[in-house]
Amino acid sequence: MGPDHPECPERLASISDHVIALGLDGLIARNEATPATREQLARVHSGAYVDAVSAAAPSSGLRYLDPDTALNPHSIEAALHAAGAVVNAVDLVCGGERKTAFCAVRPPGHHAERARAMGFCVFNNVAVGAAHALAAHGLSRVAIVDFDVHHGNGTEDMFEGDPRVLMVSTFQYPLYPYSGLDNPSPLMVNVPLAPGSGGAEFRAAVADRWLPALADYKPQLILISAGFDAHREDPLANLQLSDDDYGWVTSRIAEIAAVHAGGRIVSTLEGGYALSALGRSATAHVRVLAGLGS
Ligand SMILES: [Zn+2]
Repeated sequence: MGPDHPECPERLASISDHVIALGLDGLIARNEATPATREQLARVHSGAYVDAVSAAAPSSGLRYLDPDTALNPHSIEAALHAAGAVVNAVDLVCGGERKTAFCAVRPPGHHAERARAMGFCVFNNVAVGAAHALAAHGLSRVAIVDFDVHHGNGTEDMFEGDPRVLMVSTFQYPLYPYSGLDNPSPLMVNVPLAPGSGGAEFRAAVADRWLPALADYKPQLILISAGFDAHREDPLANLQLSDDDYGWVTSRIAEIAAVHAGGRIVSTLEGGYALSALGRSATAHVRVLAGLGS
């Protein structure tokens, strides 16, 4: 995204550093991602969009797809691997090799719509993974949980009206991308939170709105759009979550997954721009996913 941009490579370094510092490195398996194929991407994006974006990378410098979303010469390779990571994770988890997986990827994905890049996002990684679970693993009910501070407009764009996908989300409103208030279908459970809301409001939204919807839906797999930018230290938003809130919500999701989904969870990184808070919060999330307690 260019120099001094919050969506920076150091985000992934912070997560890795915290995983090592907390002694988790030897307790979790690591896999390198393979790039998503055109067929996998075209399950949720238009083929024309995939081709146009893939051809748009500059040979030097930056090219802007929208005012917030730039490509450098390496961005498409990274974006293909980000989406491919979620596909790989779905294969590992649905194939029984792993119970859970966390995809530490950039660029993020949940703002990318069927035919539009938006908000630092090129391909919608979590949506590509959900579509892969449906198409390649024969699942018929997948839930997407999105706790990024921004509304996942792209994911909603792709699955609105699709009975095979339940989406539950919390997000600050008003805030970019200023969508998500419509609750267009019973399978889109959007809970806006006012600026300044903290752990109490977030936990109430999860307990009162998400958990009943998830229990009713009985998902066979839960995917998570794991953005950590609702943290109180984050510079891009105004919610007041703590590291502990991320461990707590992950525990609640894991409980639902244990009952209905054989424990299967695939989580993928979205936002989170305060580097230390991102590393701490993502580690709290991974600890629970790995069954190491909160
Ligand atoms: Zn975000």
